Amino acid sequence: MGVLALQGDVREHAAALRRVGVTVVLVKRPEQLEGLSAIVLPGGESTTLSMLLESSRILEPLSAWVNAGRPTLGTCAGLVMLASNIEDGRADQAKLSGLGITVRRNGFGRQRFSFETSVEIPSLGSPMEAVFIRAPRIVDVEQGTEILGVLETEAGAEAVCVQKGNIVGCSFHPELTDDVRIHQLLVDIARCA
Ligand code: GLN
Repeated sequence: MGVLALQGDVREHAAALRRVGVTVVLVKRPEQLEGLSAIVLPGGESTTLSMLLESSRILEPLSAWVNAGRPTLGTCAGLVMLASNIEDGRADQAKLSGLGITVRRNGFGRQRFSFETSVEIPSLGSPMEAVFIRAPRIVDVEQGTEILGVLETEAGAEAVCVQKGNIVGCSFHPELTDDVRIHQLLVDIARCA
């Protein structure tokens, strides 16, 4: 499996994948996408990632990958990249549109800049500790995209983990805890794909 290795928490994702028994390729060049069974788009800064994807010429093959519905996990900035609509983004930032969601960048506001809390992901068995860092807020989920996990907020239950076909995204950082269930989910999806 690949981890997009242009920026952000690449090492942590690679370590989590190794913990679930996966051989990891750190993807820095377009030709490295060939032959992968899945790819992780890590957190970092989506506007920077967007520029680096263009300059490294990975944007086009990665768009084709996502368009073909191949197994992909995007976390935090990676989720922003996978959204079909981005609020508070840069007008020219790349959008892969693998998930039918609208995200608002840094949507949890100043007070809740970064926080750790428990989220409910019923299909993965139990609550999960989740680290949010300048996290995108999922403000709309379109038909065809399934909500896997929710966070209880003052506004009610909000989606924080979603899936459309073989593409999964979460607004938190599953690579920063010891819980590897999200990475295991990607492995299971890749096995069935
Ligand atoms: N706020 C960042 C962005 O919009 C995401 C932060 C993160 O990945 N931890 O790209």
